Amino acid sequence: MAHYWHEDIECMSREDMRKLQSERLVAQVKHVYEHVPYYRAKMDEKGVTPDDIQSVDDLHKLPFLSKADLREAYPYGLLAKPLSECVRIHSTSGTTGKRVVAFYTQHDVDLWEDCCARAITAAGGTDEDVLQVAYGYGLFTGGAGLHGGSHKVGCLTLPMSSGNTERQIQFMRDLGSTILCCTPSYAAYIGETLHDMGLTPDDIKLKAGIFGAEPWTEEMRRTIEQSLGIKAYDIFGLTEISGPGVAFECSEQSGMHINEDHFIPEIIDPETGEVLPEGEIGELVFTAIDKEAFPMLRYRTRDLCKLTREKCGCGRTLIKMCKPMGRSDDMMIIRGVNVFPSQIETVLIEQGYTPNYLIEVDRKNNTDTLDISVELTAEQFSDKMKDVQDRERSLAAAIKTMLGISPKVHLVSPKTITRSEGKAVRVIDRRKLHD
Ligand code: ADP
Ligand code: ZN
Repeated sequence: MAHYWHEDIECMSREDMRKLQSERLVAQVKHVYEHVPYYRAKMDEKGVTPDDIQSVDDLHKLPFLSKADLREAYPYGLLAKPLSECVRIHSTSGTTGKRVVAFYTQHDVDLWEDCCARAITAAGGTDEDVLQVAYGYGLFTGGAGLHGGSHKVGCLTLPMSSGNTERQIQFMRDLGSTILCCTPSYAAYIGETLHDMGLTPDDIKLKAGIFGAEPWTEEMRRTIEQSLGIKAYDIFGLTEISGPGVAFECSEQSGMHINEDHFIPEIIDPETGEVLPEGEIGELVFTAIDKEAFPMLRYRTRDLCKLTREKCGCGRTLIKMCKPMGRSDDMMIIRGVNVFPSQIETVLIEQGYTPNYLIEVDRKNNTDTLDISVELTAEQFSDKMKDVQDRERSLAAAIKTMLGISPKVHLVSPKTITRSEGKAVRVIDRRKLHD
């Protein structure tokens, strides 16, 4: 049974979608020009007026907004509605620096929660489900977004927030949770804890998980699916654009549909700012076309990814984005080679290790060093030195094949790498600390 939350929008013809986007964009640019002096100055500087924007084809004429702009305009400089009309504030996790705050009117909260309702529905959720929200509640958008979406769908909502993993599992069992929402790293931790408690997926009723807020590989997806006995769906979003639900995965599990009636995506060359043709990898840029309080025109996410309009088996016509390959600022340049943590994760899981690892980069005697600590499971753990050295050597070789540079691999005892209940910290780059 095909199941959509907003079938008219999610399966809209391309032509009608473009028309809707154009109407909303034209009105939004006027709204911003009139109410946000900060952005008006940027438009004036570029010599663009609202009259120059007649349809989505003109989007590329607008200036970009970046995280630096948000920090400069902090806290109220990009607000497009009086505070009396705003009802909510959220803040980014601050993964890559100072936090920024975003404002919401009731309309903004509604459209965001609707996006999450689309995601829950696409994961098979209905009013028959018990949905456990194990994203953090508070300033972080994960908890609030999925919570609101769950209410809209009519699921019985368990607002657990993150943490207290054994209690998560106890509630999951007692109340028969069928859908789990949290970060993928926390989902992996919950799966591991379930096993440690002597339980199996047969002891819980979960059927689906909606995991996002951080990058995760296909290998990680399979690990989570097995450990919890579920189908795991990706969900993408960022506070500046509203929160989780900007894009969501369907049953095809091959990229995320972007809610493009609200957010128009573009892929640009991060160096030149030029818009790239469909299918090319570059930086993802969003324009929020019907958000009121914090509109964001051409916001540069720094996430690297590509878009595709290929027909999707689920029947949705919404454009799809691939799994982000990481942020441009996640990329490490080690001995001149570009390295993404996700490449390392792929090798680890392929070689039969768990996603519990820590990457440490440093510079010694003018040479970059790459150290990867990887945790062994109790089953893998061996006190025979020789075994450990052989394993370390073969894992280092596999990683070298992937990256082109040799790491130093350290296999460490079970349960020695800190687990994440929210966004995992997997990289420590000491070179930055020395600078
Ligand atoms: P912060 O930038 O401080 O982490 P947010 O909490 O708003 O703030 O996080 C948004 C960012 O999280 C995105 O720009 C993206 O890099 C990452 N992200 C969110 N969802 C996903 C996902 N499903 N896959 C990969 N990365 C994601
Ligand atoms: Zn689909």
